[in-house]
Amino acid sequence: MKAEQPRVVVITGGSRGIGRAVALAFAKEKAVIAILHYDPDEEAAQETVSLLARQGIEAESHKVDVSQKKDVDRIFSQIIERHGGIDVLINNAGITRDAFFMRMTEEQWDAVIQVNLKSVFNCTQAVIRNMMKNRRGHIVNISSVVGQIGNVGQANYAASKAGVMGFTKSVAREVASRGIHVNAVAPGFIETDMTAVLPEKVREAFLAQIPFGRMGTPEEVAEVVYWLCSEGASYLTGQVIHVNGGMFM
Ligand code: NAP
Repeated sequence: MKAEQPRVVVITGGSRGIGRAVALAFAKEKAVIAILHYDPDEEAAQETVSLLARQGIEAESHKVDVSQKKDVDRIFSQIIERHGGIDVLINNAGITRDAFFMRMTEEQWDAVIQVNLKSVFNCTQAVIRNMMKNRRGHIVNISSVVGQIGNVGQANYAASKAGVMGFTKSVAREVASRGIHVNAVAPGFIETDMTAVLPEKVREAFLAQIPFGRMGTPEEVAEVVYWLCSEGASYLTGQVIHVNGGMFM
């Protein structure tokens, strides 16, 4: 693929929240954008596609459970065949299944590890050969401040997000010689559907830990993700960038 062609960008969990904001950030450069989502009610995904259409981007959306390797392989093969390659992968899809550890079920543990960590393995494996062949690529994995500092009721989530950090650093070391950048962004407390369900007391406890005294916006995370995939970040790989209003320093 020639350098002047638009970049092909795949964003998992691109239907809502941070993933949608990342898709809109890439719209600025008129990228070819594919969003992956899971909800059979396609409303959120369609809304993201419409928002991108208003920016002049004809985005595609694919319904796929990113924790299922075979399904992921199939969708990524289709995207690579249709567009000739993938330049940017944003591993953003994520879920929570919170419970105190004493009461955490195996199902809650497995679901979070599958969607938050196994999906990162699945999607990265599905693009890495193509990126190695092209000798370039950007992968940004969305981790969390919780993967760094832990959180009550989130042993499963924290383990998955700490796993993402270790994965990022290991793969970054393996593929740097092929011109591929692999970094992670660890958001703090961001205004999305994921945090909208938290009880008021929990929100207040989080806010008390944030020096900026407010939640972040999806756009504030998306700008950092976008920058990591830009020329300005050409000498960065294997890094975890914290975007958290000072919650963790
Ligand atoms: P969100 O608004 O709940 O959106 C989650 C996205 O993931 C949706 O697009 C959803 O698709 C997709 N998804 C969930 N399970 C999936 C599956 N099995 N296969 C494919 N897609 C799936 O979440 P968010 O707050 O934007 O979070 C995005 C990422 O940031 C997550 O990895 C999250 O852990 C991380 N994060 C968030 C915060 C925060 O405060 N919000 C903080 C730190 C880290 P559907 O729309 O189809 O359901």
